[in-house]
Parts: sequence; C-alpha cells; structure tokens
Amino acid sequence: MGDAQDDYTHFGYESVPTADKARRVGAVFTSVASRYDVMNDLMSFGIHRLWKRFTIDLAGVTPGEVVLDVAGGTGDLTAAFARQVRADGGHSKPGLVVLADINAAMLAEGRRRLADRGVVDVPLARANVESLPFADASFDCITISFGLRNVTDKDAALRSMRRVLKPGGRLLILEFSKPLSPGFGKLYDQYSFKLLPLMGRLVAHDADSYRYLAESIRMHPDQATLKRMMEDAGLQRVQVYNLTGGIVAVHRGYRLA
Ligand code: SAM
Repeated sequence: MGDAQDDYTHFGYESVPTADKARRVGAVFTSVASRYDVMNDLMSFGIHRLWKRFTIDLAGVTPGEVVLDVAGGTGDLTAAFARQVRADGGHSKPGLVVLADINAAMLAEGRRRLADRGVVDVPLARANVESLPFADASFDCITISFGLRNVTDKDAALRSMRRVLKPGGRLLILEFSKPLSPGFGKLYDQYSFKLLPLMGRLVAHDADSYRYLAESIRMHPDQATLKRMMEDAGLQRVQVYNLTGGIVAVHRGYRLA
C-alpha cells in the first residue's frame, strides 16, 4: 500500500503526481471548512455523531491522560476528550488534548467551534500526520477520524502515529470502509455518486469536493487491508469494529513496547 513511493498516486479516481496530492486535498478542505459541520450532518443524516460517539467510548480516555486528535478538523472528538482528561476529584494531574491538522482553515474553524463549546484549554498544532512534530512516546491515545483516507503516504502516517504513542498506548482510526453486503453497496453507490455531489453543490457550492469524497472512500483500503497495514507499522492487538453495515469501521491497535 506504499502509494506514495511511486511518482503518481490517487486523488479520488484521478491519478496525480504524488507531490501534488497534499495540495489538492488542502484545496478541498479549505473550500469546505466553513460548511464542513453542516454538510456532515446532512450527508450522514446525523449518524456521524453516533460513529464518533462509539469511537470516543472505545478510546476509553481517563482523567490525566495525554491525547492527540490528528486530522482533527473542527474538533468533534477533541471536545469530548478535553472534558474526559480533566482532573477528577482524586486525580492530582490534569491531562491534555492536542488538536492537530494540516489545514489552517480547518484549524481556524476548529478553534472557533471549540470556543463555542466552552473548550479553551486545547493547544492546536498545524501538522502533517506523516511526520508528526512530537517527541517519541508522548501520547496515551491517538485518534484519527475520517482523516487517514486523505493522507498521501498512509504507511508513513501509521508509523509516525505509532512512534509518538507511549508503550501501552492505543491508536483509533475511524474511517469509511467497505460495506459488508453487496446489495447494500449498490444502493450506497447511487447515494454517493449522485446525491453527495448534488448536496455539495447546493449547500457548500462545491460539487467537486463531494465527488472527491465519494471517490476517496472507494479508493481507501478495506477493513482487512487497513488492519494489515497497522500491523506492518508495528501496532498490535488490532481489532476492527464495523458500524452501519461496514460503511464505516473503527480500527483500534496498541503500541505494546
Ligand atoms: N476529524 C474530523 C472529523 O472527524 O470530523 C475532520 C475530518 S476531515 C474529513 C479530514 C481532515 O483531515 C481535514 O481537516 C484535513 O485537513 C485533514 N488532513 C488531511 N490530510 C492530512 C495530513 N496529511 N495530516 C494531517 N491532517 C490531514
């Protein structure tokens, strides 16, 4: 899967120079940043909130822990973790959540949305998940929600996230995946390739970005492939949780040593 080792890689269904993919992805998220949250609710009929809730629960973050939400965008997971890491009565040391994203427009929207939710104690970092600017073994838990699909070199991203996890720490990846039933897959195709770009055009005034979304989902590794990639990057005890018939999946793995 080392797609970025070649000169060309995929951007949705398009083949683009590897060096150009990050810029193209950047343009998508800069374009949709201000409409990102409303589009998520619309496109998923609000179900993305349940997928995120499941991931937050599975992460099992406790007071005092240090958490990284990378490709965190507008900060839905960050906001929940910020509350969970705060010192409880018996815990002496408060924890920390860092929101990181490669895109300045998404981070600006994230800062605004966190402040709206009363969360002001979260440092923001502009960072590429392929080469995270943090010391080895810094985090108890890392999450990447609907982010990995957009990354040029996914293997490098997985290695980088493992490097900054503490031994015993866990990585959770929430991402679109492969529907388990072929019949359902056909219906889902109709929805993604017809309805999504239409909604994108009407609400975000940008059909192309939502066509990219549908295409990038199809190009993303399926459940078993992503599990193998995580294991190749040195993550262990990897488990896969299919949600909504495999439309999305959560992969959780640990850095054991
Ligand atoms: N995590 C948020 C959520 O679940 O709503 C935002 C997901 S949004 C679909 C994808 C995010 O990944 C964007 O904010 C984008 O800027 C970010 N991203 C894309 N490539 C990245 C990279 N190489 N490193 C860090 N962030 C990246």
